[in-house]
Amino acid sequence: MNKRVEAVQISGIRKVYNKASKYDNVISLTLGQPDFPVPDIINKAMIRAIEDGKTVYTSNAGILELRREICNYLRKININYNPEEVIITVGGSEGLYATFMAILNEGDKVLMPAIGYPAYENITKMLGGTMLTYDLNGDFSINFDSLIQGLDNGAKVLVLSYPSNPLGATLSKDDKEKLYKIIKDRDILIITDEIYASLCFEDGYNSIAQYEDIKEKIIYISGFSKMFSMTGLRLGYVCANSKYIDQIVKVHQYGVSCAPSIVQWAVVDGLKYCMNEINVMKASFIERKNFVYKKLLELGLEVNDPKGAFYIFPSIKKFNMTSEEFCDRLLESKRIACVPGTAFGDKGEGYIRISYCYSKESLEKALEGIEEFIKEL
Ligand code: PMP
Repeated sequence: MNKRVEAVQISGIRKVYNKASKYDNVISLTLGQPDFPVPDIINKAMIRAIEDGKTVYTSNAGILELRREICNYLRKININYNPEEVIITVGGSEGLYATFMAILNEGDKVLMPAIGYPAYENITKMLGGTMLTYDLNGDFSINFDSLIQGLDNGAKVLVLSYPSNPLGATLSKDDKEKLYKIIKDRDILIITDEIYASLCFEDGYNSIAQYEDIKEKIIYISGFSKMFSMTGLRLGYVCANSKYIDQIVKVHQYGVSCAPSIVQWAVVDGLKYCMNEINVMKASFIERKNFVYKKLLELGLEVNDPKGAFYIFPSIKKFNMTSEEFCDRLLESKRIACVPGTAFGDKGEGYIRISYCYSKESLEKALEGIEEFIKEL
């Protein structure tokens, strides 16, 4: 076995999901899977693509029509790339993997949020890189002293992840400007994972990729799993200057050849005609978020109001239990599954992640169960 791969654990999110599947009648708030159907326009376009025989390999980078539509979409949030700077990947996951593989040498230091999506840490470790972390403040914004310390410790890559899984935090305009000033004159490469960009609850979207003059330091990763509620259809993308794209495309080619052809064709229509569906989903997530946030406050939990994505990350520190113990006992006694904060890094101890992309009825029942559980403690 490869020793680095052996040393890596399967994701803590999947572990809880597997534990929960052993019980009957569990309300599982564990996965980041929106409960909306795929927009009809996308389904129809996929069927049309099959009927038209568009079932063959595409170019490695993906069909030009889709790369163009992605550029048009990104332009609306003030991010400018041209189609030659885009690779269509098998989900954001493959985009992340191919990117890390293309840029990391053994021992390279990757600076990532202390509480973040587990792929950053584990891909880094599988490739022989070294993980450094930057702390977050109480409101889950970046702790800039800690970030600068990490950069001074020789980080080659800085990972940004907004809107955040698991925190629901977004990048504020002030923090974007602070980051820009720090990055501008440093020799650092940024990987910005913005897979939840379409689920930002505030007006105006902030991304480090909006600064034209530091674009040669940025690799932008996103995808359609969350945007079009199509997690199983596996489509994402990477945008970057050609010096990165030329290398990333090699990893992509030897790993997967190309992303699924019919899904690529379908998402061209998605980007052209389904913006309204996205707004409907977003409005529904905001409603559910408001419900869950209010309820958690009523239960006396310390919790930040999420500004994007569909996760909330309350503190359970006052119950004097580890996150894992809290989640295990909640599952055993109330049949409700949440993810321990430690699935997202050691600094996640004392928190749990609740995915609120489930039906209102499930959320209501789950919160009633959590209320009973807390009362019994
Ligand atoms: N980045 C983040 C922050 C995520 O939460 C996820 C999925 N949960 C991904 C990337 C990868 O998503 P996919 O491969 O489905 O595009």
